[in-house]
Amino acid sequence: MRCALLAALSAATCLAQLQGVVDIHTHGAPDNRPRKLDVIEWARSAKASGMRAIVLKNHFAPTAQAAYLVRQIVPGIEVYAGFSLDRPVGGVNVAAVEQANIFTGNTLRIVWMPTFDSENNVKFAKSNGPFVSVSKNGRLLPEVIEVLKYLAKNNLVLATGHSTAEEDLLLVKEARALGVKQIVVTHPMSPTIHMTIPQMQEAVKMGAFIEFCAGQVMPGAAPAWRNNVKPYVDAIRAIGPEHAILSSDLGQPENPHPMEGWKLYLDMFRKAGLSNADIDRMAKTNPATLLGLK
Ligand SMILES: [Zn+2]
Repeated sequence: MRCALLAALSAATCLAQLQGVVDIHTHGAPDNRPRKLDVIEWARSAKASGMRAIVLKNHFAPTAQAAYLVRQIVPGIEVYAGFSLDRPVGGVNVAAVEQANIFTGNTLRIVWMPTFDSENNVKFAKSNGPFVSVSKNGRLLPEVIEVLKYLAKNNLVLATGHSTAEEDLLLVKEARALGVKQIVVTHPMSPTIHMTIPQMQEAVKMGAFIEFCAGQVMPGAAPAWRNNVKPYVDAIRAIGPEHAILSSDLGQPENPHPMEGWKLYLDMFRKAGLSNADIDRMAKTNPATLLGLK
């Protein structure tokens, strides 16, 4: 009886913890690599946990079709699409964004600059493969400017992808100048990007949110980061929680189920001394603002 009561209590705590969470970075099948669960299961479990919204991300294919279908199958949770400007969609290619944006349901919210195919990521991985550039000699390329103009005009979110920290700052500055309202610097503390705290502060001053992903600190992560949110907490304290977004970036088979991962992640911040109000701001309010949710 006691066990049942405890189980019920912990389930209730879990629900309360994730109630209203908006996850801007979810990886579900179908994909070109194994995923822990598919996008329908993602939406069902997020809804069951009380989450408010999820954004479907794929590095190599648009998710507008999937988002529309998931909305039909799993009503009761907001599901949005993302678009990542990697090689299979022609790289930084405004025509592809335009099409994704007018697909049935108007599900598109976030456009990521190139991720795994970005010049930075390919060079970081010491691969000789082809890549997609966003800048040359310290200036953004014309096709990037074209996409930024489209995002501004259509009220879409810019995410900086796996560009270098310097490119991230160029992107934020130019996007603001061109009228993009909502910008998020994609997981800048990942080893590929390695943005410094002063650079994050600069991005924040220009109006960007800074994203901190659970995937990087899960039990299956690299030893230096495993179960360790201290570097995140230091950065969050330096920039202010009002400028930070927590997301999962989960879905990898080696990581916990995303809802379990979210619980672990939020507990890590609580143990590190962040208040529930700050955590709610970063996991609920700020991502909702980014996506323009009412
Ligand atoms: Zn991701």
